[in-house]
Formats: sequence, structure tokens, C-alpha cells
Amino acid sequence: MTRREFVGGAALAAASVGRAGSPLPAGNKAAAKGGSALPSDRPRNRRPYSDVDWSKVIRVKTTSHGHCMNQAMLDKYLKRGFGLITMSNYYPSAPWCPASKMTKNYWRLHHEHPVMVNGKRVNGPFDWNKIIAPWKDTIDPKAGERKPAWYAKYPFVEGKKLFKPLPPGVLEAPNAEHHSFLLEDGRPAASLHICSPGSAFASGTFDAHNLAKTVSHGYNYGSGEFWGTAIDRMIAGFIHPDGGGVTINHPSWTKLDRELMLKMLDHDPRVLGIEVIEDSGHNSENYWDWALSTGRQCFGFFVPDWHVENKVFGVNVLCVQEKTVHACLKAYREGNFYGALVGLDALAFTRIAFDGKTVTAATDKPARFEVITARGVVKEQKGTEVSWTVEKEAPWQGPGIHVFARVKAYAIDGSGEVLFSQPFMLVDR
Ligand SMILES: [Zn+2]
Ligand SMILES: [Zn+2]
Repeated sequence: MTRREFVGGAALAAASVGRAGSPLPAGNKAAAKGGSALPSDRPRNRRPYSDVDWSKVIRVKTTSHGHCMNQAMLDKYLKRGFGLITMSNYYPSAPWCPASKMTKNYWRLHHEHPVMVNGKRVNGPFDWNKIIAPWKDTIDPKAGERKPAWYAKYPFVEGKKLFKPLPPGVLEAPNAEHHSFLLEDGRPAASLHICSPGSAFASGTFDAHNLAKTVSHGYNYGSGEFWGTAIDRMIAGFIHPDGGGVTINHPSWTKLDRELMLKMLDHDPRVLGIEVIEDSGHNSENYWDWALSTGRQCFGFFVPDWHVENKVFGVNVLCVQEKTVHACLKAYREGNFYGALVGLDALAFTRIAFDGKTVTAATDKPARFEVITARGVVKEQKGTEVSWTVEKEAPWQGPGIHVFARVKAYAIDGSGEVLFSQPFMLVDR
């Protein structure tokens, strides 16, 4: 059976679960402990930063989507000054948190979360050495040459710890990149990837490339469920009900269907938004402004994904009053963060505000500002601050034409840094 046929088979079974399914227990430890969620009728915050005291702000650099498989990769984040680590790995899509527990082959030996098997959700634990034993002789001895990064010799043996202890003061929270979802009609949701910083939810298996033939035997290597059901499970797995969220990953790179993007934003307000700087510098501002132009709040996320070597990185700068995991995850939920292209502190926002009439922003060094609305760039300004009043600057138009306003600040020191505020929504929806 090919992977494609298998996914099709799983689709029918999952489709019968349907959208109506209430948020289900995630089936992992944190969710079982009761990661209950806030009522989902609280909309995404249409006026971020309103409770940020900029005179006492602590900026915590992090990202909502960054793979981190070994100490060398972790060092790239730490060298950039990250204060919150939320590794988003897959195969399986399970939190590498705390990092101190992670060993070589960890999830092959400690797989406890449910998996879709022949279209049915089966609870863990999964003892892969035992499960694979009946077909171990059918494993291609050359499999390791095809995908060395994902290969481990059968029987699997747990190896050494992958990471040194995190430096003092560096926080960590669970996250993972989930994949292999189904659409409402049961077809595969090709290339749809979702991260959920702050959620302990886990999905899928280690065997994405079917090297150990588990896919051939019916074990789905990813979510295998309708994306809405999977998102409900991510939400049920939040370690803080009022913090963290769900992100729609790399829309440009995967050429995400725009209507699907809107459906996902409408599914639950804890689907916080989309990646804007993604996958090695792809820029998805066109997706972002298009979603915002519909009147929907949609936060932007800034991520390196796999590309931790690049200068253009993708950093979320969380604006908190105290440096705790809870405060950081709440900053994500409330939209109290801004994006940085490079994230090496060449430029920082010292204020981003909207009083209902005027958008203002300031930076710690001179910059070139742009105020962007549904009409495009409506104001450019050089200096250390910018302000834009919707009625004053465009009295013939008004908020209904502009819909939203966000601020972009370009460093003028040659560092290449660009900062992106979250959007303020100018209209009610
Ligand atoms: Zn991805
Ligand atoms: Zn990724």
C-alpha cells in the first residue's frame, strides 16, 4: 500500500468523526491533567499592546516554529539571545520539552500519545520494537542510506542525551509541528503544517519515510485527522488555558489555499494567525494583509523553520512585564509581540499603540517607518517615531476603507533589520 492510498483510507474513517466533534482529550499527559481551554467565543485581540507598560517592558526573543534536533542547532537560538525555547519538531510531532529529557531515539522508546491506525485513533503506549518485530525482516537494509537523518537501526536502543542544560534564565515550553491532516471532505490537506506553542499535544510517529514499514502496516505518521479536530486537540493540550495558540505555517512556501486559511482562522480564535517571515525568508505579507482586509484579526509570526544558519531568521519578540513561561504564552495569545527579520537587537520597538484614533510607534534608534493598511502603505516617516491618525490623514476614507493598520520599521544602520508590529483592527467585525 502506498502512502497516498493509506491516507485515503484514513480519510473516510476520520471524516465520519466530523467537525462537530467537541474538543477531545489530547490523550497525552498534560492534556489529561486538564489543560482546559477558555471559551472559544473570545475573539482574537483586535487592539494588541493595550496592556503593555512600555516603560517596564521585557523583550523575550523566541520563535513559534523552529526545528532543533541537536545541541549545535540549539546553540544557534541561544547565540541569538533567545529567552524562550519552544522547539517545534516532528516525526513524531511531539514536544521536545523539557529538552533535558531528550535522548537519541527518545520517541521510538517512549511513545505514549495516540496514533491513527488504519483510520482509527488508537491510544498509546506504542512499543515500536515489539510492534515491528513481526515484519522486521522486510525492512530494507539500505533504508538508512536513503534518509540517514531519520534512520535508526532496528531494534531501537535509547542513546545519549541530546542537549546540555539550558543556560540559567532561558525558559522552555512545549510545541510541535503537526502535519498530514485531512480536509472536511476527507481528502489529504496537502502541505498543511500547524504549530501550537504552549500545547503539550502530540501526534504521529517517528516513521515519516516508512523506513520501518509502519506506514505500510497502517500507522499514520502524522495527524491523520480532520484539521479542525486536530486543532481542537492542540487547544485541549495548552499548558496554560489563557496562553499560547495555534499558527498556520509557511503559507507562501506551501501556496496555502486562501479560503482554507480563512476557514482555519474562523475555526477558533486561538488559531492566532499565520507565519509572515517563514522558511528561509519567504515573505507572506501578501497573505497577511489579505486576511486582515477581510476584517479578521490575524497575528503575524516570524520563524526560521529549519534555516537556523541564515542571517534572515525570523524572531517573535514577546513584550512581557515578567519573564515567566505563563507571561510569554499570554503575550502570544494577546498579540503582545512583534516580529524581527534578523533578531540581533539592532533595532527595537519602544512603543506600539493605538488609542482608537491614532496609531503610534517608536524605536530605540532612528528608522524608516511604514504604516500599512488595507490601502497599502499610507504613511512613511524617518526618525524614532511615527504616528498616523485615520481621520486626519485620510478624512475622505475613514476606518472602513483602511480596515487595519500595522507598522513596519526598517533599520537604517545597514544591519538589515526590519520590525513588524501586530495589526490594530480599525473596524468592528
Ligand atoms: Zn512545515
Ligand atoms: Zn518546520
